[in-house]
Amino acid sequence: MQEHQASITGGTCEGVDLAALAQREGTPLHAYSTSSIRQRIGDLKIALAGLDATICFAVKANPNLAILQLMANAGVGADIVSVGELRRALNAGMPAERIVFSGVGKSADEIAGALNVGILRFNVESLDELHTLQRVAKAQEVTARAAVRINPDVDAQTHAKISTGKSENKFGVGIDEARRWFADRKALTHVQLDGLHVHIGSQILSLDPFRLALQRVTAFWRELEQAGHPVNSIDVGGGLGVCYRAGVDRPVAAADYVDAIREALAGYRGRLLLEPGRWLVAEAGVLLTRVLRIKQGTERRFLVLDAAMNDLQRPSLYDAWHDIVPVTDEPRPPTTYDIVGPVCETGDTFARARELPECAAGDLLLIRATGAYGASMASTYNSRPLAAEVLLDQGRYAVVRRRQHFEDMIAGEQPARNWETA
Ligand SMILES: *Cc1c(COP(=O)(O)O)cnc(C)c1O
Repeated sequence: MQEHQASITGGTCEGVDLAALAQREGTPLHAYSTSSIRQRIGDLKIALAGLDATICFAVKANPNLAILQLMANAGVGADIVSVGELRRALNAGMPAERIVFSGVGKSADEIAGALNVGILRFNVESLDELHTLQRVAKAQEVTARAAVRINPDVDAQTHAKISTGKSENKFGVGIDEARRWFADRKALTHVQLDGLHVHIGSQILSLDPFRLALQRVTAFWRELEQAGHPVNSIDVGGGLGVCYRAGVDRPVAAADYVDAIREALAGYRGRLLLEPGRWLVAEAGVLLTRVLRIKQGTERRFLVLDAAMNDLQRPSLYDAWHDIVPVTDEPRPPTTYDIVGPVCETGDTFARARELPECAAGDLLLIRATGAYGASMASTYNSRPLAAEVLLDQGRYAVVRRRQHFEDMIAGEQPARNWETA
């Protein structure tokens, strides 16, 4: 089941000695396995064989330029949610014609920037955005390609904070509203509205919510076709879940996921777009961290790490589980710890009452499956500089983000010297 997790054997990951790596580059350190990411891309491509499909990696999962370059070299495009992500994607060599733009808060400036470079498609999330797109495209004398993001009102059966396809969520529009957009589409002189988009949430471990959402999209596509509105692209979003807890999380295989898409969209001849984020990179990543000390509290025993919630927010934000393992295989008696970081918040807890081989100060640990929504959500909270990131590739590694220096962290701050009136 974990075959594509960054495989760690005898203290090495992808042939790189983790103790030596931590010694040289310091901790906390985000490390990503190149072959694990390539394997995932390959698996998805095999599953998609015969379909007119484009994979657009959701940049927000891991926006590191080296990761985006790896994606670009494998022919993968980008799903972006800001102009910052657009610039990263282009910078990494992703062609504009493989970039789609999602999100409820695209500003007119961001829309103009994306139109300027000629991205593939806008996934439009509100009537106001549609009108803004029309206005900006008209001013630029270009035609924008657009899809309507459907909110299918489906429960993704995931954490509330990463559920996006219920009618109460801010994302997309209901089918009734989308129907009106298509009915009025001739009034859009500079928007080619000919696509459907759906993304119901993240870390989804069952095919049922995908099937349900796709059924609703398919029914709508058929209705539109009959009404004379061509649908040239259907974007099925991302959301495919991964294994965070060995033996408990059972992710859907790529082949089964794509089979469900094939089944739901049977008869559809247009282009298919996919926006996986987490699934491509999460299990390829580990966060290397050292034990600072053991603290015996009155009720609980704490393992204090040099990594904290600013390096990996998922446990504090979503109560997420991450497997945590020592780098050494040395047999030691099992001990129960609350695993915490140095940040001054009780929420800075990676795990409660977790059983681990007994640890000592200086031990190296791995927090697993941190390749998605790890470094990308990091902050400098508590004035902790951003951790370094390395890419591992068959016995070698490359630093792809150097550890932030104190000076980088405070760059842009200054004393209140120049007082002005607005
Ligand atoms: C976040 C997001 C994705 C990727 O989600 P994953 O769960 O990481 O696959 C895809 N599409 C949209 C619109 C998103 O917002």
